[in-house]
Amino acid sequence: MRPVVRALGQSTLPFVRVGRGMRRRNGLTIVGWHRVDGASNGLSTGVDDFRRHLDELERWGAVVLPLDDAVAGLEAGTLPPRAVALTFDDGYASVVETAWPLLRERDMPTTLFVVTGFLTGDLRFAWDRHEPEHDRLRLARPDALLDAARDGLDIGSHTVTHPWLPRLDGAAVRRELTDSRSALEDLLGRPVTSLAYPTGGWTREVRTIAGEAGYRIGITVDRGLNTARTPHLSLRRAFVPTDPCDLRLILDGGYTLLRPLDSWRSRKGPSW
Ligand SMILES: [Zn+2]
Repeated sequence: MRPVVRALGQSTLPFVRVGRGMRRRNGLTIVGWHRVDGASNGLSTGVDDFRRHLDELERWGAVVLPLDDAVAGLEAGTLPPRAVALTFDDGYASVVETAWPLLRERDMPTTLFVVTGFLTGDLRFAWDRHEPEHDRLRLARPDALLDAARDGLDIGSHTVTHPWLPRLDGAAVRRELTDSRSALEDLLGRPVTSLAYPTGGWTREVRTIAGEAGYRIGITVDRGLNTARTPHLSLRRAFVPTDPCDLRLILDGGYTLLRPLDSWRSRKGPSW
């Protein structure tokens, strides 16, 4: 994380503490990663760094809840203090093979958001195409996902092709959301009602279509604490930077007051 962003986040902490003290109900922090493998850079988190993140969650006293339960608790006002939900985007094999066993060891429930059009074949995401061939780019296959799901890993949708949804017309958004949902339901044999918007791209229209397509939970990449007033189809989440100190800053709510930056980013769209 850039030092200036970290400093900005740290400077907001006193205000966040006051806000937290005034709030009658506990909030929900949602954090995310992409893949967990050899080296920390870009979308990758090294295994040792990931272990340090889990240590930091424990040290902070995080109560890690299944995403569904956490959102239900947010609605009912029954969340414990320091409630956290953990997520992974894109469906890399390293999540199932490396991260999930470490999480399960610590009884930390987790949701993996999968791009259903990339489940079979040797497809690569646009942002991975410039990378040299490497095992870390491998995506989880359906049978591995099914095994992990039977073992307790929660699976949600990350659309069929990972488009920037605000760029698509309504019919195309609807197809991305309904087709990925039914593909996952066919694979898992259970309802799938959670969604992570690719690259955090959402609008009010996209959110409405998500609700009509049967989703109850939609995750963005707008940072900050979720409160009883946060719509369940545009929940806030921060991706975890490598340094465990930055994770602590996210957990303490250091980015809650930096939301305008995220709205700007989500209007801008991805560079790929
Ligand atoms: Zn993604």
